[in-house]
Amino acid sequence: MQVKIDLHNHSCLSPCGSDDLTPALLAVEAMEQGIQILALTDHNCGRNLPTFAQACELCSILPLFGMEITTVEEVHVLTLFKDLENAMEFAAFVEFLLPKRKNNPKLFGNQLVVNLEGEVIEQVDKLLISSSNLSFSDVVEEALSRDALVIPAHIDRFANSVLANLGFLPDLPYSALEAIHIPVDADTKGLAVLTGSDAHSLDQVGRRSCYLEMPTITYESLKTSLKPEFVSYRHV
Ligand SMILES: [Zn+2]
Ligand SMILES: [Zn+2]
Repeated sequence: MQVKIDLHNHSCLSPCGSDDLTPALLAVEAMEQGIQILALTDHNCGRNLPTFAQACELCSILPLFGMEITTVEEVHVLTLFKDLENAMEFAAFVEFLLPKRKNNPKLFGNQLVVNLEGEVIEQVDKLLISSSNLSFSDVVEEALSRDALVIPAHIDRFANSVLANLGFLPDLPYSALEAIHIPVDADTKGLAVLTGSDAHSLDQVGRRSCYLEMPTITYESLKTSLKPEFVSYRHV
């Protein structure tokens, strides 16, 4: 079956994410757009993932518990977990490794942890858009060793992408690649190229998604179906 997926979205936890983009509203908007597998990928932090889990359950969406990690080279990499607990453990590790620089909400925006009702539970103090001290290959290897999917983000963007910042795509066992424009003008090494919304506000949810041909809507099916021949970009 063709399954609509969108594996790159932020919430109000990301300083650049709009305050009203709560995990619950993200899930509801995605459901209305027919998205069946959805990831929350805030910058270097996973504190909204538990609320995201509850929201996806209510919306009957298969959630992937993610982060968008900034490597030391300032490359953005998506890491996606099946299991909330594993995702939280990895997220705590990544957040701990960020420099001890405080967020200035007026400059960068709020970093809000919210519950299902959208009430603010916590404001994160540390600036989450700093780069971690993990190298690109460290992030890929560390996340894969924890059984996450690893997808270099928006590889065709002129900033914060592996092609722009490193100049090439290192030979590593990525799960897939993500691009903004299809087809990508680069050697994608036979990997599946996905498109994701990278939503930072509610109106951006679902602006990019793709379809994957897979037997069932499960994490395991997704993992084995991440092949170029199973990806399509048009509504079916
Ligand atoms: Zn990014
Ligand atoms: Zn992003």
